[in-house]
Amino acid sequence: MFGPQGAGKGTQSARIAEKYGIPSIATGDIFRWAIKGGTSLGGKVKQYVEAGNLVPDELTIETVRERLTADDCEEGFLLDGFPRSVPQAEALDEILAEKDRALDAALVLQVPEEVSLRRLTGRRVCSNCGRNYSLDSPPEKNWTCDVCGGPVTPRADDEDEEAIRARLRSYHDTTEPLKVYYGEKGILREVDGTQSPDDVFSSIVSAL
Ligand code: AMP
Repeated sequence: MFGPQGAGKGTQSARIAEKYGIPSIATGDIFRWAIKGGTSLGGKVKQYVEAGNLVPDELTIETVRERLTADDCEEGFLLDGFPRSVPQAEALDEILAEKDRALDAALVLQVPEEVSLRRLTGRRVCSNCGRNYSLDSPPEKNWTCDVCGGPVTPRADDEDEEAIRARLRSYHDTTEPLKVYYGEKGILREVDGTQSPDDVFSSIVSAL
């Protein structure tokens, strides 16, 4: 699944994972948790993530390759925020071909730039489990997560307007060409991400 920042990938990926009983693998979450945990991966990716720049392909691809070897991926998986460039998509095809597997669908959530910007400013995330909230749909109690009780705050990279613009630029220049890449393979599924979360989810299920 791909789409610009604020398209609703985090919200929808949790629902897809639940409905289909598959793990949702978000490279952004893996990187943020590595930074928070002070791991060696975290040390390598920190500067890129905080500036809103893409982590170099080699590191990102190795991270995904390793994650896909886990047992929970055997019956299927959803990738959220990977691939984010044509070279990453080619690398993913190779990784899957080695396992005699292939993608069933490439889902793109479409939203115009002004909607992305508005949603990012209002976005709040549980810093413990990663669940998404917003100013319009806050947790029940005092900015603590409904699921795990963790603190719900803005994401560090959403607070810096320059970093937001860098991420939207990089989506446009580097990630959007994936529409052509997957369109040519006949597996692109485009969904209007400006609808309500329930309607987006229904559209995704019909598209799949
Ligand atoms: P996200 O949570 O998907 O917005 O990702 C947060 C940050 O993690 C991005 O701004 C990048 O710095 C990094 N990141 C996540 N996924 C990728 C990827 N597929 N390729 C390169 N960098 C990534």
